[in-house]
Amino acid sequence: MSGNSVQFDHKPNPAPMPAVQRDALLANPGFGRVFTDHMAVIQYTEGKGWHSARIEARAPLQVDPASAVLHYAQEIFEGMKAYRVDNGSVLFRPDANARRFNASADRMSMPQLPEHLFLQSVKKLVEVDRDWVPSQPGGSLYLRPFMIASEIFLGVKPSAEYLYMVIASPVGSYFKGAGGPVSVWISQNDTRAATGGTGAAKCGGNYAASLRAQAEAIRNGCDQTLFLDAKERRWVEELGGMNVFFVFEDGSLATPPLEGTILPGITRDSLITLARAEGLTVREERYSIDQWKADAASGKLREVFACGTAAVVAPIGRVASPAGSFTIGNPEVGGPVTTKLRAALVDIQLGQAPDPHGWVQKV
Ligand code: PMP
Repeated sequence: MSGNSVQFDHKPNPAPMPAVQRDALLANPGFGRVFTDHMAVIQYTEGKGWHSARIEARAPLQVDPASAVLHYAQEIFEGMKAYRVDNGSVLFRPDANARRFNASADRMSMPQLPEHLFLQSVKKLVEVDRDWVPSQPGGSLYLRPFMIASEIFLGVKPSAEYLYMVIASPVGSYFKGAGGPVSVWISQNDTRAATGGTGAAKCGGNYAASLRAQAEAIRNGCDQTLFLDAKERRWVEELGGMNVFFVFEDGSLATPPLEGTILPGITRDSLITLARAEGLTVREERYSIDQWKADAASGKLREVFACGTAAVVAPIGRVASPAGSFTIGNPEVGGPVTTKLRAALVDIQLGQAPDPHGWVQKV
């Protein structure tokens, strides 16, 4: 199904939020609680393909209680940001999000959404709601494309109908102290994904299963959960919503490899490219929690940072578990490599540096 003939119908919100009210929300939007006036919708029906594409007023959905997604969690999503640059907006590698969306769809037995429809839906929503893109430093319009199984049927099988949508939420910085050091708690009982499972897909179920470990982290005074591999409980995988990088005394970097159990982060991929362009060595290899502790103690490990769309790059200052805690470098600030890579990425995202890889797309 190419979806080439799909045209977006534009039905403007008849009662958009008044500018004064909107601008007051934009001054301090927090994360994920404020939403724009519109949403993008495309429907899928087996045998017919993608149809009924539209941009319309954001409104609650009517969902039948027997909709497949409510029972068997056939659901996937993406997360990306539009930044305000001069008078327009830019997206960072939206084509990579489109490809990852389809990889997730494949894992969850959902239909492929043609890349141009993904890109059009996101770009049209940003265009229509362009006044909602924050202009303060660190602010952006967070875009959430997602797809749910909407067939009304309780049989366990791939749904014959789907609803794809994009909603948008103006956001400030993800962590309270803007990119400040993050502390991580090593999940004791829960793992995030096993080989052959859904770890590499961005499906809602992965996040539902991570919430208990995240609550454990918060109870123990940490910001995020660090997941270890499901088999040996030894190898570092990722955080609940971010990938992890290690920086060593010789200036080289390492990050866990993509073996199907972690999400292939677009920030991760971008940082590998940027670091290599700076002449740094980056290894995609397994790193154990014991080695991490030993290297932190010996000084061989100089910096550790987490990365993802929401927080961009955030230094990890402290690792805790029931066995005690240890710190890396000066836990209060990000080290020089972390700081430099973060700046290189943000400068490209905001159009303040050349974009040799063609990552930025204007809307
Ligand atoms: N891992 C997980 C589990 C995530 O949810 C995310 C956020 N999408 C990431 C890593 C980072 O991915 P990205 O850089 O594409 O945001």
